Amino acid sequence: MKFTLITLFPDEISSSISFGILGRAIKNKVIEVDYISLRDYSDNKYQSIDDKPYGGGPGMLIQAEPLIKAINKVRSESNKNIPVIFLTPQGKLFTQKTAKAYSQINQLIIVSGRYEGFDERVHELVDNSSEISIGDYVISGGEIATAVIIDAITRLLPGALGDENSAKQDSFSEGLLDYPHYTRPEEVEGIKVPEVLLSGNHNAINQWRFKQSIGKTFDKRPDLIKKRNLTDEEEEILNEYIKDNKE
Ligand code: SAM
Repeated sequence: MKFTLITLFPDEISSSISFGILGRAIKNKVIEVDYISLRDYSDNKYQSIDDKPYGGGPGMLIQAEPLIKAINKVRSESNKNIPVIFLTPQGKLFTQKTAKAYSQINQLIIVSGRYEGFDERVHELVDNSSEISIGDYVISGGEIATAVIIDAITRLLPGALGDENSAKQDSFSEGLLDYPHYTRPEEVEGIKVPEVLLSGNHNAINQWRFKQSIGKTFDKRPDLIKKRNLTDEEEEILNEYIKDNKE
């Protein structure tokens, strides 16, 4: 999958995606990342791409024209109407489901904002574009958000993870949180690893894990349980979890 990133600070993104799973995914060509410096699309000798907001107020805004030029150039080079993400805290919330949907396409343009954001007209003028937010808070620029989005999508691409099952069991992938994990030693300050995990009985381990997954989701994120509409069997498993944890 190819990511084309339009940004004022390419180094901030490249330094965040050069390590571990993402670094390997780039090296092994699971993903390709191209950086477009927005300043190259400025129409003045100072290479400025921002200006003051009409109506006054604090901060500067990224101008529509350099952005549109940059997007058109990328699209015309590939001869495709590549989807565009504009990063903004006002956008649709990025979730595991969004990551899954984007992991099915071949190329994506991601635009990082800075200052007070973008001239509003870009959203009308750039077709096949979406406003995406990584959460209900404001950070100083879209570069960190871009790295988050690339990371979440890349984990879902074949060849990115050592074991593809890890993405399948990750929290949110099936609408539930991941089950609890334990490693050596068997006892830490009086707390033992649940017996079943030492039993070697894979059927029992899988059942325990599913029960924990439903139960932990109920405890920590009841909103996800409501959204999932549990089957009768899952309802029964959750009731067992609640009973186990009362005793
Ligand atoms: N004035 C804007 C607002 O309140 O909606 C915030 C601008 S923010 C300081 C600068 C840039 O950071 C945004 O244009 C966007 O690209 C990025 N950004 C900030 N918070 C974000 C979030 N939660 N999700 C995605 N991008 C974000």
